[in-house]
Amino acid sequence: MSQNISVCLLLSLSLSLSACAHHKQTANNIAHKPSSIHKKSGLYILPDLDHGLIQSPINIRSFNEETINTHEITFHYQDKIKAIENLGNTVQLNFAEGSTVSYEGLNYDFKQVHFHTPSEHLIDGMTFPMEMHIVSSIAAKNKNDTPRYLVLGILFKMGQANKFIDEFLNQIPKTEHGIVPLKMGAVKLNDLFSSTKLHDVKNFYHYQGSLTTPPYTETVQWFIFKHIIEASPEQIETISTIEGNNARHIQGIFTRGID
Ligand SMILES: [Zn+2]
Repeated sequence: MSQNISVCLLLSLSLSLSACAHHKQTANNIAHKPSSIHKKSGLYILPDLDHGLIQSPINIRSFNEETINTHEITFHYQDKIKAIENLGNTVQLNFAEGSTVSYEGLNYDFKQVHFHTPSEHLIDGMTFPMEMHIVSSIAAKNKNDTPRYLVLGILFKMGQANKFIDEFLNQIPKTEHGIVPLKMGAVKLNDLFSSTKLHDVKNFYHYQGSLTTPPYTETVQWFIFKHIIEASPEQIETISTIEGNNARHIQGIFTRGID
C-alpha cells in the first residue's frame, strides 16, 4: 500500500495531481498527452486539479503526538439530535439548533453527524471499519464567501455493541432520502463519549484540510479523536450495508503539520 501511495505521489507531482487509481493504465501515455485530451477521448478519466493542496482525509502518523497542542476548543452542546436520514451514500443524524463549538475565537454551529465505512482517516497506515464525522460550520456572510467548517472525526473498531449507535440503528429509514424525526433526547452523543474527553484538546489530532466530498472545500479544521471507540460487527455491518464504501482515498499531506 505504501508503495502504491508513493507511486501515486510521484505521478501526481508530474501530472498535476491526476487520479491515482488510473496510473497503471495511463503511465505510458502521460508524458505526451495532457489530461484534457484523455478527457475528450473518453478513454481515461484524469481530472484536472480543481482544488488546492490541503485535502482530506490523510494518514495521521501518531508519532507527531509529542507536538504540544496549545489550541483551545470548547463545546457548548445541548444533546439535541432531531432527525435521522438515509442519504443513500451515508446515514446522517441532524442536530437541532443551539449546540456550538468554539475554536480560536470562532463559534461553529453543530449541524449533523454522518458515517463513513470504512474509515477515511488512517492512523499510522491503518484503516478502521467505520468513521463518524460530527460536522459544525459557520455560514458564509456573503454569497461568494466560503463557509468554514470544524469536523470531529471518531474512528470505530470492532468490539462491544455501542450504546449511542443502538439508539438510532433501528430507526434508519429503509428508503433512500427517507428522513425520520427523532424524539429529542432519544439519541445522545453523551452516550458515545464523556464530555470531559471532548474538552481536552490533547485527545485529538488536529490539522487543516478539506471536506471529503465535493466541492472538497479547504476550510476545514479537523479534529480526529485519538481514542478508538468500539461498535459491534453487526452495528457496523448495518450502516455499511446502507451506505456502501463511501470513504475517499487518503490525500497528500505536503507541508501540513498535525498537532
Ligand atoms: Zn464525512
